[in-house]
Amino acid sequence: MHSLLNHFLIFKVLTLDFTARFMYNHVQWVYCAVDTFLPHRHNRKERYKDMAFYLRGIHTPHRKNTIKQPTVRINSPAFVTIPMTMHIGKPAIPTVKVGDLVQIGTKIGEADGRISSNIYSSVSGKVTKLVEYLQYNGSATTAVVIESDGEMTVDPAICPPAVHNREDLIAALRESGIVGLGGAGFPTHVKLDVEPERIEHLIINGAECEPYVTSDTVTMLTRADDMAYALRELYRCLGIINVVIAIENNKKEAIAAMREMAGAVTECNVSVKSLPSVYPQGGEKVLIYHTTGRKVLENKLPIDVGCVVLNCTTLAAIGAYLKTGMPLVEKCVTVDGGSVKNPQNVIVPIGTSIEDLFNFCGGLTEQPAKIIYGGPMMGITVRNTDTPVLKNTNAILALTPKEAKLPEPTACIRCGTCTNTCPFGLAPAAIALAYEKKDIEALKALSVGTCMECGCCSFVCPANRPLVQMNKLSKQLLREEQMKEAKKS
Ligand code: SF4
Ligand code: SF4
Repeated sequence: MHSLLNHFLIFKVLTLDFTARFMYNHVQWVYCAVDTFLPHRHNRKERYKDMAFYLRGIHTPHRKNTIKQPTVRINSPAFVTIPMTMHIGKPAIPTVKVGDLVQIGTKIGEADGRISSNIYSSVSGKVTKLVEYLQYNGSATTAVVIESDGEMTVDPAICPPAVHNREDLIAALRESGIVGLGGAGFPTHVKLDVEPERIEHLIINGAECEPYVTSDTVTMLTRADDMAYALRELYRCLGIINVVIAIENNKKEAIAAMREMAGAVTECNVSVKSLPSVYPQGGEKVLIYHTTGRKVLENKLPIDVGCVVLNCTTLAAIGAYLKTGMPLVEKCVTVDGGSVKNPQNVIVPIGTSIEDLFNFCGGLTEQPAKIIYGGPMMGITVRNTDTPVLKNTNAILALTPKEAKLPEPTACIRCGTCTNTCPFGLAPAAIALAYEKKDIEALKALSVGTCMECGCCSFVCPANRPLVQMNKLSKQLLREEQMKEAKKS
């Protein structure tokens, strides 16, 4: 009798649990589907305030094939091609001409204005050409081509900067040529050039959530000393006390290395936060919310909520520069993808061609269908293997036709999964409809400017709709519209 009752109770609990889950999922489904396709039903901005930043996202395959491989160094490529634009802002102005001799660390491009960045030679040798270089976004910039002499001699002028106070630090960072190395390329001296009291939290982004990419994790495992040096200097010159290093919980060794480093930096409060391994955990606004609980709303910056986010490799680069005076001239890059014979992390002089990188990794086993700068979720396809490694290149992937094949899109089935998955609760299906109609007001109302182009919506769409591509086009349409308005007024 007792056993029968037990079975009955277990059955009841399971049934209730199933019913609750079923109802919850279906209420969610109906809500999202309705919300997705009736964009003006709510005030979207209010909705964004209230609903955004739930821990949404996706579980992507990790494919971190290179994490156990030793990191190797390319010593001297025969040529480097160094563009004057490897950052957000105005291109640098070339300071060398054909025939000039340069060494590692010689300045070859001067920052043009505040939001710009200096560019330095990554090899020793002779300037052979100044060419027009077509960037992946289609715009042209000048690139300096340097033939290496194979000696890799360092410019004798290189010495650690004298940094006594905040102004010195900002000037040194401006000189260093360091930009956001996680992909954005925003000049670091501009990001840190705010009233120090506004920086309540410094968040170090170690959440390397894109499949394949492991170069940041390698940095955390191998350059903790540089990171610690940078944190002490940021505390000394800017008074930054609260530092959170955010890492996904599937990177146990990196978490351990950062905890050890945090324990050694006693000057300020450095903590390590282990985050769920969900893509896009490394998105700036997502990271700020999950580390501090603060929301960066549309058209606002992290500093508006007292936060500055630096990528962990950027932090290591700051430490290395302040210690040695060597500006940013090399980068650790993950080389992976099904077409690469020996996937690994490679430390490479900036400006080295992708072809040299592939050759160094044993060549390609089959013709890649796509070569991508960065990870497969947010990376950019490059046209050919002459393309150089840039300051903010964290990975080069050569994907086989099988890996790169995209399924054929079919008609939207109004399921609302895209909205339910978007970290910001946007409505990608409705955005796509508004874009097709070129409905500027609807695009504004749908807050498309908030989209971080993470690709989660495309990833989950059962109809394989190219949603992130439509979002990018929509944002471009709004930019063009703004430019037209600006010209009129
Ligand atoms: S690409 Fe944009 S709309 Fe799509 S899930 Fe990411 S943030 Fe949301
Ligand atoms: S676009 Fe895709 S995910 Fe979004 S509602 Fe349509 S079918 Fe569903």
